[in-house]
Amino acid sequence: MESILVLTHADETGEALTKASLEAVTAGKELSARLNASLTIGIVAVDATAANSLASSGARLLAVTGEAFAQPRYASDAAALQSLTRAANATIVLAPASSRFARVAAGVAHRLGGFIDTHITAIGGTETVEATRWFYRQRVEAVLTRDARPWFLLLDPGTHAAFAGQPAPAQIEQVAVQLPAPRTTVNGLRAPAQGAQTIRPDAKLLFVAGAGWTKKQPDGQIHITEAGELILGFLQHSGASLGSSKSLVDQGGEGEPVLPFLTHMNQIGQTGATPRHAKGLSTCCHGEEPHVVGWRFIGSRRAISLDPNCGWTRGKADVVYIADAFQVMAKVNAQLEATKS
Ligand SMILES: Cc1cc2nc3c(=O)[nH]c(=O)nc-3n(C[C@H](O)[C@H](O)[C@H](O)COP(=O)(O)OP(=O)(O)OC[C@H]3O[C@@H](n4cnc5c(N)ncnc54)[C@H](O)[C@@H]3O)c2cc1C
Repeated sequence: MESILVLTHADETGEALTKASLEAVTAGKELSARLNASLTIGIVAVDATAANSLASSGARLLAVTGEAFAQPRYASDAAALQSLTRAANATIVLAPASSRFARVAAGVAHRLGGFIDTHITAIGGTETVEATRWFYRQRVEAVLTRDARPWFLLLDPGTHAAFAGQPAPAQIEQVAVQLPAPRTTVNGLRAPAQGAQTIRPDAKLLFVAGAGWTKKQPDGQIHITEAGELILGFLQHSGASLGSSKSLVDQGGEGEPVLPFLTHMNQIGQTGATPRHAKGLSTCCHGEEPHVVGWRFIGSRRAISLDPNCGWTRGKADVVYIADAFQVMAKVNAQLEATKS
C-alpha cells in the first residue's frame, strides 16, 4: 500500500501556500483517492498560518516551521523535506517544481535512497502510479512507472487546478528538524520592479514578439522605439506575459538593434521555454518549428504576420492575420485604453 506525501511551501508573504503547492495538493488528493492510499501534506513555512488553507483537505498535516524556514536555503530546505518524508513514512512524494523545491528535491531523494522524476504533467493509474512527462522538448510524451521508493515526482506548475478549500484553523503535527550548522545567511531579496517583470506565468495570454519588430518596414526604415512602446503598452493594458523568438533575443549579441526589455529568459521554443497559457498571440514572428514547439501547451493560438506563407499559416495557428503588426497593435492598444477610460 502506498503512502502519499505532498510537499508544500509558503509564498513570500509566509502566510499562504504558493499556487504551485496547492496544485500539488490537488494531484495528491486525486492520486490517494484512486489508489485508496493515505495522504499526508507536509508544509515548510515560517509558522503554521499557511496550513489553514488545508484544513478541509482531509489529509494528515505535518509542518516544519521556524525562522530558518522563512527563506529558501539548500541546507535547511533539504533537511526539512528529509524530515517530513521520514515522518510521513512516504513511498510516493509529490512536490511542486518551484525554484525552492526543484533545487533540493533530487538531493533529498538521494539521501533517502529513493528516486526522482521531474517535469511531471499528469499522474494516472489505479493499481500503480503512472507518471506522465514530455521528452525531447515536448515532442514525445512518456508514461513512467518505477519500483524504487520513495519515488519523488516534481510536478510542473499549471498542470493541475489549485486546491481551494475553506480556510480554518488547521490541526497540524510539528516535525522536528536536525539542522546542520548554517553556512548561508539570507540577507534579503532583490527582484525587478513589478512593472519591469515581463514574464508572468499566471497570465491568461502569452504575447510573443518576433524579429520582424526590429526589421526594416515597408517604408525602408526600422522603428525600434515605436516597436518597444507598442509591445510594452500592450503588456501594460492586457497583463500578458512576454515571450520572444530566438532570433529577436539573439540580436543583441550580433550588435543589431534590440528591445532592451527582452532577454533569453523570454525565449519560447526548442531552446527556450514551453509556458502554459490559455491563449497566445504571435507578432512579427515567422512561426518556424523550433519556435512553435514551445507553444505545445498554449490553448488557442493567433498570429499576426506580413508573410502569407509563414509557418503559422501552415497549420500552426488557429487564426492568422496577414497584416502589419505595427498597425494592428496600435489599434488594439487604442481600444484597450479607450475601454479603461
Ligand atoms: C537547434 C535550433 C534551435 C532553435 N531554437 C529556437 C527556439 O527555442 N526559439 C525560437 O524562437 N527559435 C529557435 N530557433 C530558430 C528558429 O528556427 C527561427 O530562426 C526563429 O524562430 C525565427 O525568428 P523570427 O520568426 O522572430 O524571425 P524571422 O524568421 O526573421 O521572421 C520575422 C517575421 O516577421 C514578419 N514581419 C516583419 N515585419 C512585420 C510586420 N510589420 N508585421 C507583421 N509581421 C512582420 C516577417 O514577415 C517574418 O515572417 C532554433 C533553431 C535551431 C537550428
